This record gives sequence, C-alpha cells and structure tokens, in this order.
Amino acid sequence: CGIVGILGSEPVARSIVEALKRLEYRGYDSAGIATIEGGKVERLRAPGKLHNLEDKLKTTEIKGTTGIGHTRWATHGVPNEANAHPHVSGDVVIVHNGIIENFKPLKDELQKDGYVFTSQTDTEVVAHLIARERARGSAPKEAVANVLGRLEGAFALAVLFSGEHDLMIGARMGAPLAVGHGDGQMYLGSDAIALAPFTNRVTYLEDGDWVVLTRNSFDIHDAKGAKIKRPMNFTQASA
Ligand code: GLU
Repeated sequence: CGIVGILGSEPVARSIVEALKRLEYRGYDSAGIATIEGGKVERLRAPGKLHNLEDKLKTTEIKGTTGIGHTRWATHGVPNEANAHPHVSGDVVIVHNGIIENFKPLKDELQKDGYVFTSQTDTEVVAHLIARERARGSAPKEAVANVLGRLEGAFALAVLFSGEHDLMIGARMGAPLAVGHGDGQMYLGSDAIALAPFTNRVTYLEDGDWVVLTRNSFDIHDAKGAKIKRPMNFTQASA
C-alpha cells in the first residue's frame, strides 16, 4: 500500500523504513525492503508493524545503497512473510501497490512455462513476467515496457535489477507514484510526504507513465513508450 525507492549515496535501508513510516496513514499489514549490493539482492520482510521489520534490521545488516521498500495491504494472499513484498524472480526485484486484475491467466501461462510461485500474491506474476523478458534477452528497460502492456488493473510499481546498481524503474496506472529529485540521488514514493525528508522537488507521474531513473537522470515515458515531460513541483519542506 506504500512504496519507497532510493538510489542513494550511502546505505538506504534506514531511510526507506523512515519514509515508509510516513506512509503508515495508508494502512498496512506487513512490510519489506530489498537492496542491491555487489550484484546480490538483500531482502528483509516481516508481517505486522514496521517495528517488526526494524527489529530484523537490527540483527541483519543490509548495506545496499540502491533499495526499495513496501508496506502491504493484502488483496491476494494472507499477510505473512512469504506474501510480503519485495518479490524476486531472476534478477528482478519488485514492489507493487494495487491489484493485477488479470493475474490468474498470467499465472497459468507462467506456470506452464515452468515458473514456480513462492507467494499467493497477484504481484508475483509481474516479477516473473519481467524475468521471462530478461531471459528472452530484453534489456531491463525493454523488459518492463513489454510487460506493462499486459497488465490490467490498478498499480504502482517500483522495479530493481540485481546487476544494475544505478537503475530503478517506476510505473503508474491508477495508483499514485511520484519521483523525488535529489542531488546525485533519486527517489520514488507513493506520496510526496514520504519523500519530504529527502527532497522538496517532486514530479508526479500520470496514469500510463513509466519512468527510468538513475542517480542523475530521469526519463518519463507514456503508455506508448514516447518520452514525455511532466512538471517538477516544489513541495513544502516538512521533514
Ligand atoms: N495486491 C498486492 C498484494 O496483495 C499489493 C497490495 C498493496 O497495495 O499493498 O500483495
């Protein structure tokens, strides 16, 4: 129900959790975080309140400077650790707000293709679909673009790739998502409130938009793939 992503300059786990706390008002039943470090995914997830995740962070070091986090409001699958986001398939790491309405036929198709599901969520189909595009030879950006057209429903997505330390892709269709602009850092959040501790420069995505972020660049595309511009807003600093 809440998404935060950071392309940072130091370990991002704590900042992501702090930002997720600012989204608590949206409600949630579990939470999780994943960062990329040395080509590997470090992931921690916990049912219940964010302090359960924070407790785990005390004993498990998460060092990555590229990361995404999620607070989940379960729609498909009970609120347990296996269903908590982020979800992983191949080199793809993903968090999702909303519902993939056509997840059942997509899941059938993927299972026929040999993909094994480790959760009951609708979200996991998106992870496997992007991973399948990667396995077929698509670059990360093309893999996401190819999959977005197959998804029905309302969603906001944030995607990382384990081998791509300076890349984060976001997509918005019927669930809010904003880009936060830092200096040599870049952010994604369900809400500008989540990003207020980091930046007051925010670009809101519109439905059908998807964005390719690095620490120093952001390219927004519309549903047809054309590059487009969206206005940058200066929010009131409330950190
Ligand atoms: N439909 C997804 C799930 O049940 C995401 C729910 C949410 O928005 O948190 O895991």
